[in-house]
Amino acid sequence: MTSLNDLPLRDNLRGLVPYGAPQLHVPVALNVNENTHPIPEAVAHHIVASLARAVLTVNRYPDREFTELRESLANYLGHGLTAENIWAANGSNEVLQQVLQAFGGPGRTLLGFDPTYSMYSILASGTDTRWVAGERDADYELSADTAAAWVAKTQPDLVFLCSPNNPTGTPLALETIAAVYDATDGIVVVDEAYAEFGGAEAPTALSLLPGRERLVVSRTMSKAFAFAGARVGYLAADPAVTDALRLVRLPYHLSALTQAAATAALDHTAEMLAMVDDIRVQRDRIVTELRDLGYRPYRTGSNFVLFGGVEDPGATFTALLAEGVLIRDIGIPNHLRVSAGTEAETTAFLAAISRLGAPTVSRAE
Ligand SMILES: *Cc1c(COP(=O)(O)O)cnc(C)c1O
Repeated sequence: MTSLNDLPLRDNLRGLVPYGAPQLHVPVALNVNENTHPIPEAVAHHIVASLARAVLTVNRYPDREFTELRESLANYLGHGLTAENIWAANGSNEVLQQVLQAFGGPGRTLLGFDPTYSMYSILASGTDTRWVAGERDADYELSADTAAAWVAKTQPDLVFLCSPNNPTGTPLALETIAAVYDATDGIVVVDEAYAEFGGAEAPTALSLLPGRERLVVSRTMSKAFAFAGARVGYLAADPAVTDALRLVRLPYHLSALTQAAATAALDHTAEMLAMVDDIRVQRDRIVTELRDLGYRPYRTGSNFVLFGGVEDPGATFTALLAEGVLIRDIGIPNHLRVSAGTEAETTAFLAAISRLGAPTVSRAE
């Protein structure tokens, strides 16, 4: 059999490894920041009815402009946005890829701030865009001065800001986003995949959109909306940005079934988001209890918690897995990440990690 190394692969893909969070069947899966609550049954029935209608016309190509879905998404986001401001694709990963296809590419540079979402560098190599990793301040925070200095130093064509940041949980201040925007002539994407977990009072980059035609705010239905399996991500931006994405999207990229399912789900926003408050309670509980156990959890505005003070992350990961609890080793020494689950799942994680005994790494590592 031929191996990957024998194929005439593009040079910039040689030696790379694909995205690969383990997909294991365990009782308590808290490793990829999903919403672990199933969607409400009444909503599921409405979605199925909607799919049943859509399937009767799948002999035809779907609405290439997914107009109804864009209207629903604009309505959900508010902030005076209309369908013209909205774009959607099969997960925000595809949205981000399209942004790079339109604004990145050979000879162009994407700046992000490590540690951040591992897909950014993978999407960069897939589009032949150079990835530059800026650094953060203490405790993974990112001040306006630090971020703007990196922009000035690296002169990127695009900047991806993740807020709250995956894998650290860190929410970004709007001043940081505005400072980055002012420091560049390029495209600034704020990935707000976890925005809803910040609570109603949390600031959003949507409020910065007016007058900033190079600013893009990316969202997803995968996390708060409990819709990861349906693959629906979207963005809000100036209508000119969505016109740019029309140049690179595949025709009819959003299937009629995806459009029908997502539009039906958005008719039930309140029910779909009902578990968000509960998940925030479990997240805060993880922060408090891990701290009490002697670990070092970070500030988080998302549905997951990064914690330090882990002497041997591989060993702790394996010990938890043996108890049926899957969390994430994201490769930061002495750190692990866990998603907040249902109350029962969260309890299972906290009970399992407390049985491992007190961490031996000093809290000030
Ligand atoms: C989970 C996640 C996404 C969502 O990806 P989808 O393709 O919409 O499922 C986007 N950005 C970040 C930072 C994430 O953690």
